[in-house]
Amino acid sequence: MAGQLLDGKAIAKKVRAEVKQRAEAFFEAHGRKPGLHVVLVGEDPASQVYVRNKERAAGKAGLDGHVHRLPADTTQADLEALVAKLNADPAIDGILVQLPLPEQLEAQPVLDLIDPSKDVDGLTPMSAGLLMDGRPGLRPCTPSGCMRMLEETGVELEGKRALVVGRSLLVGKPVALMLLAKNATVTMAHSRTKELAARVAEADVVVAAVGRAELVKGEWVKEGAVVLDVGINRNEEGKLIGDVEFAAAKERASWITPVPGGVGPMTIAMLLANTVTAAERREAGKD
Ligand code: NDP
Repeated sequence: MAGQLLDGKAIAKKVRAEVKQRAEAFFEAHGRKPGLHVVLVGEDPASQVYVRNKERAAGKAGLDGHVHRLPADTTQADLEALVAKLNADPAIDGILVQLPLPEQLEAQPVLDLIDPSKDVDGLTPMSAGLLMDGRPGLRPCTPSGCMRMLEETGVELEGKRALVVGRSLLVGKPVALMLLAKNATVTMAHSRTKELAARVAEADVVVAAVGRAELVKGEWVKEGAVVLDVGINRNEEGKLIGDVEFAAAKERASWITPVPGGVGPMTIAMLLANTVTAAERREAGKD
């Protein structure tokens, strides 16, 4: 059975259209657009592209997107003062500090400062704790994108065996907790896991978030499994490839995400969705 493609571009487009509608309704109700403020320190070329894409996507979705560009020699105190200022501004609903920061700066104290109600990246300890506890909060964007894609398949997760390969705070751990919240039976694999092939072969849902090209072999995949490939790697020809051996896995999976065009496009879409959610909750909290 050849699997169906889980088209991240199409699903992200749908999410962005939903965000636009919600942003318009928010504007009608509150007379302002949901505000997303991104902080970029220094001139890292990849970060500059990501930030520009976020700003542009925010504008198109009817949000008030704003980028604070700080010089590479910004001090810890100045960066923290900016975050405190954004926290205090009632018209700002989402704050995102683009990582990595220049090496003289420590990221954790800056992230710790972000008001949890504005933590649209979902990476602060408070947001992680709320997720762990199953309480409402802002969830990290890439894992949220994975869950939205699973939802789009219509596959029921309850009681299913899910394998998450990778245990980062950014992807692996939160996606595992989100699958658990949907009552999947979750296994987490990492660099010390033995018999990865056997773990993959048992899984009804596989989420690969490692950063190693084609680590997960197609022949390991269980017939009918849903496969989400978060990995972004470049092969020798400079082509983008995922953590899953796509062509072979597609022959066995029921649904599979391509790379590129799979999980990738979902991340910014979920950031926009988190910003509207933050805005709606913050306004509701004022009642
Ligand atoms: P990290 O490097 O933070 O984590 C990688 C994880 O993979 C670690 O937990 C590590 O285990 C595990 N790992 C390493 N080698 C193996 C192995 N041989 N077998 C099993 N597990 C292994 O990466 P991220 O989570 O930040 O990102 C993962 C991938 O996803 C990257 O390719 C990244 O570019 C991509 N990505 C894509 C996004 C998107 O928008 N599509 C967003 C974020 C990331 P251990 O903990 O033991 O070291």
